[in-house]
Amino acid sequence: MEKRQQLYAGKAKSVYHTSDPERMILHFRDDTSAFDGERMESLARKGMVNNKFNAFIMQKLEAAGIPTHFDGLFSDTECVVKKLEMIPVECVVRNIAAGSLVRRLGVEEGIELNPPTFELFLKNDAQHDPMINESLAESFGWATPEQLAEMKRLTFRVNDVLKALFADGGLLLVDYKLEFGLFDGEIVLGDEFSPDGCRLWDAKTREKLDKDRFRQGLGGVIEAYEEVGRRIGVDFG
Ligand code: ADP
Ligand code: UDP
Repeated sequence: MEKRQQLYAGKAKSVYHTSDPERMILHFRDDTSAFDGERMESLARKGMVNNKFNAFIMQKLEAAGIPTHFDGLFSDTECVVKKLEMIPVECVVRNIAAGSLVRRLGVEEGIELNPPTFELFLKNDAQHDPMINESLAESFGWATPEQLAEMKRLTFRVNDVLKALFADGGLLLVDYKLEFGLFDGEIVLGDEFSPDGCRLWDAKTREKLDKDRFRQGLGGVIEAYEEVGRRIGVDFG
């Protein structure tokens, strides 16, 4: 399979056509963004670390029966994926309160959420990814009720698999964001799962080991991503 012209350059990844019309290449760049792209920085090794981290997680999810777009690695910073018709809705599950939930509700960071919460956000940087609900998604045609139900079911399945995987590495999966798309009419997990799109804390010290290190200017961002990867068994080569 050959890499062809670029289709799209997002904030952290670029997407390329391939010689197979049903496959694309995702290139994980070193670019790091926060606050809807207001803050951008290049962090050495990030593209490679997130590409390999994502490949490891996608393979674990696939093995657990969750359909994903992941086909295989293409290079240190690239992977081959199924070309999806993306649904512009982000699914967020939270096990512990942090981030926008704390800001929105004024609750204390770190409280356990039992049962875990499920939220939907519209993928729209210009509007700062506003929170939406099933009714709005249906009325505006972003997703059907059946698609939303399947996205919710799969997002919670991911929680079962990954909470246990990270717990084995002494880590708490605080929250995470997933994006889905359609492939032959089926809901498939797309985009990426890496410390850029989730929160991970050390289970004992509650040290932040995810993108909050970048958002909060704590430093050691990529070192933390590598530490998390090492603890769950990712091979960075
Ligand atoms: P953003 O668009 O939010 O700046 P990225 O820099 O991560 O994000 O760009 C990657 C883009 O590729 C995203 O818009 C994402 O929705 C899209 N994407 C991810 N996986 C697939 C896929 N399998 N098929 C089509 N598009 C995808
Ligand atoms: N998230 C993401 N992309 C977004 C919004 C959120 O990957 O556009 C992730 C974020 O990293 C966190 C979870 O989704 O793991 C919940 O994010 P939250 O709503 O708390 O927003 P934030 O604090 O990032 O503004």
